[in-house]
Amino acid sequence: MLVKPDAVQKGYIGEIIKRFEGQGLRVCGIKMVHMTKEEAEGFYQVHRSRPFFGSLTSFMSSAPTVALVLEGEGAIERVRTLMGATDPKQAEEGTIRRDLAIDIEKNAVHGSDSPDSAAFEIPYFFSALELFSYKCR
Ligand code: UDP
Ligand code: MG
Repeated sequence: MLVKPDAVQKGYIGEIIKRFEGQGLRVCGIKMVHMTKEEAEGFYQVHRSRPFFGSLTSFMSSAPTVALVLEGEGAIERVRTLMGATDPKQAEEGTIRRDLAIDIEKNAVHGSDSPDSAAFEIPYFFSALELFSYKCR
């Protein structure tokens, strides 16, 4: 997942990680990344023909993000549930986007939506040597 620039700038990195760890997800990779416009376009290539693509990739390259790899049973679904709906106004109470996001673009977090997207997105930011599996005590 990514902590997007809006949430980094508001000082929500810790709050967001706390919500994932609090639900038993383990951080197995973590990195601060300031993407170029081209890197943001590559990351969001599935959305390249959408009307919001230019604005989204400008926003995502405007300031640093924090990339996290989270591990745990059903991690993809659980992360998406904790994030809430894309539009913070539609997101359920208690979700990250409802509580912390600004609008449908500056919506605080990105999360992989399938094993295939995770398999593309994780190596976009992390090498094998930067990922760590461990048991929580
Ligand atoms: N987005 C936007 N306008 C829209 C829909 C999406 O700016 O109408 C942005 C928003 O930042 C969103 C990202 O594009 O998180 C990717 O969209 P997607 O539909 O994949 O939403 P997500 O998976 O992030 O909930
Ligand atoms: Mg998506």
